[in-house]
Amino acid sequence: MLTTAPKGTKDVLPGESYQWHYIENIMREVCRVYGYDEIRLPTFEHTELFLRGVGDTTDVVQKEMYTFEDKGGRSITLKPEGTAGAARMFVEHALYNEALPKRLYYLNSAHFRYERPQAGRYREHHQFGVEVFGAPQSAIDAEVIMLAMAVLRRAGLPNLEVELNSIGCSKCRPAYSQALKEYLHAHEDELCGTCRERMERNPLRVLDCKVEGCKAVAAAAPKPVDYLCQECAAHFESLKAYLQMENVKFRVNPFIVRGLDYYTRTVFEILSPDLGAQSTVCGGGRYDGLIEAVGGPQVAGIGFGMGMERLLLALEKMNVDIPKPERVQLYVAPMGEEASLAAFDLVSRLRQAGVKAETDCVGRSLKAQLKYANKLDCAFVAVVGSDELAGGAWRVRDMMGGEETTRTPEEIFQMLTEATK
Ligand SMILES: [Zn+2]
Ligand SMILES: [Zn+2]
Repeated sequence: MLTTAPKGTKDVLPGESYQWHYIENIMREVCRVYGYDEIRLPTFEHTELFLRGVGDTTDVVQKEMYTFEDKGGRSITLKPEGTAGAARMFVEHALYNEALPKRLYYLNSAHFRYERPQAGRYREHHQFGVEVFGAPQSAIDAEVIMLAMAVLRRAGLPNLEVELNSIGCSKCRPAYSQALKEYLHAHEDELCGTCRERMERNPLRVLDCKVEGCKAVAAAAPKPVDYLCQECAAHFESLKAYLQMENVKFRVNPFIVRGLDYYTRTVFEILSPDLGAQSTVCGGGRYDGLIEAVGGPQVAGIGFGMGMERLLLALEKMNVDIPKPERVQLYVAPMGEEASLAAFDLVSRLRQAGVKAETDCVGRSLKAQLKYANKLDCAFVAVVGSDELAGGAWRVRDMMGGEETTRTPEEIFQMLTEATK
């Protein structure tokens, strides 16, 4: 137990973190040009927020939350998704009084779900997500989808498919739910246990059940798009027009519902078909009623979440060549105490000048130091002992070319600081 991380968690090892930096940089850069500001939110919230925001009949809330009572007797939940917390922040700080829309993003946000761990899906996982508050028009739906695609494409997934659906609003949803429930009742025997259980409280979820029998029932079920009110239908058509204009390939998939209660109108998923079974790399949608549901004014919202572990797994599957971190430019191998001081000083000066450099700090023999320097894969190794100190010139080996020269510490400093300019 002591040396095993809990099931469903994952360490990012020192040799892996550069891959995270790679996608984080892309996410930040794309958000910058789209004009999105970063937010950082707490890891836990009051449980009530998710009951109200996400919906207390959803699978997430009923089965998957990490909920506990803290020492003050409050019910606390580690956040299972990012949108409810962002909505809470928006209301708490009255951001609706500022210029709208508010375009926001977060990354490396830890999310927790108690579910069966699967590839790229952990009980503690991290998300990149955007949330836009105060933009009811479909132009923002298109913008958000295109932002997600820009991130995925730049990260190295060129083949992307967008699947779209509209699940209506509080005006047209009740009639649809009614029709769906009636249909499901008539086919109750063909549904799996979970669907039979949820068809009353959350009938939409039956549409995206992965069990074969349920898929067959869903195929012939009434679809949300056929029940949209005039405004919802117009919104959906207008979104399609924006995407067509921008040459974003999409298809309407009437089975996408997303699992959470807060979604209204647009829901979407972005898939990378090259990935096979686990091809969904991003999912999101509009939530025009959420701000009100958590105690704020009527303000429209839309966003998406992208699992960072899932994205990294996708890049690995696609053999995307992630640029390796910069190598150590110089390793200084000193022999003896006096040489160690001189080595330390040169390395300090190089570091202050922005050059990645290292020297011995465990008292290794020269042979062991050279072995270590080899493992580091550094560009140059300098050797300094009492002879070199006395003569003023150190031996410098170019680890790529193999040739050895002698240089004063000042010359080494010049060579490396000029190389990095
Ligand atoms: Zn509607
Ligand atoms: Zn089912």
